[in-house]
Amino acid sequence: MLELDGVHAFYGNSHVLHGVSLQVAKGEVVSLLGRNGAGKTTTVLTIMGYLAAAPGRVVYDGRDLKGLAPHVLARRGFGFVPQERGIFPSLTVEENLTVAARRGSGRWTLPLAYELFPRLQERRGNLGFQLSGGEQQMLAIARALMLNPTLVLLDEPSEGLAPIVVQEIVQVLRKLKHEGLAVLLVEQNLRVALDLADRHYVMSKGQVCYTGTSAELERNEAVLEEYLSV
Ligand code: ADP
Repeated sequence: MLELDGVHAFYGNSHVLHGVSLQVAKGEVVSLLGRNGAGKTTTVLTIMGYLAAAPGRVVYDGRDLKGLAPHVLARRGFGFVPQERGIFPSLTVEENLTVAARRGSGRWTLPLAYELFPRLQERRGNLGFQLSGGEQQMLAIARALMLNPTLVLLDEPSEGLAPIVVQEIVQVLRKLKHEGLAVLLVEQNLRVALDLADRHYVMSKGQVCYTGTSAELERNEAVLEEYLSV
């Protein structure tokens, strides 16, 4: 479904990704792990078309995505939940959701988004900036779903959130996984990644240095210690 093959990325002259290859199959939940600065966010930004084309292939359902703009990728079925969440601070919760909604027939509707996140319904008249961190994260996820994606890229959804809120979000992501949504999950929280993902890619210095299932990763103390500071 999604395949990266030898992808490089640059910020100006700074060469950050050095040949990243990974795959996410239909309905699969895959995590991208690694220490700060390993290149996880850059990988996601490159997939989403925010970074200019550099050597390497990004292919989705057999089509080359290189050079496509983020809004075109959204139309092709990519939902993106950026690290900074990217919600509109001066719009209400409901406006944030309806602005994102794709016209025409799609599974995701406002009532369904509120069913998934009852808290958002309670807060539907509040402005984006009035929400707590957890509510903002819920809104960012709900907003991505309103585009009826087949694959969602989540950049550190648990970051900065209280454990109880993280659990709420994990439960929602688990539900989406059972419904067959494919997810590429960037995480610092190993427990969350092991809980949700089927397979994991560990990055270091702009490259994938390990890949394995949850069972394999949990047993691999060398990788956990060296690349994930566990
Ligand atoms: P991670 O998501 O794993 O923490 P990033 O992809 O954010 O890592 O960063 C990878 C590397 O790219 C780091 O060395 C970081 O300093 C560098 N980097 C990130 N953003 C920029 C930027 N806008 N300009 C220059 N370098 C950047």
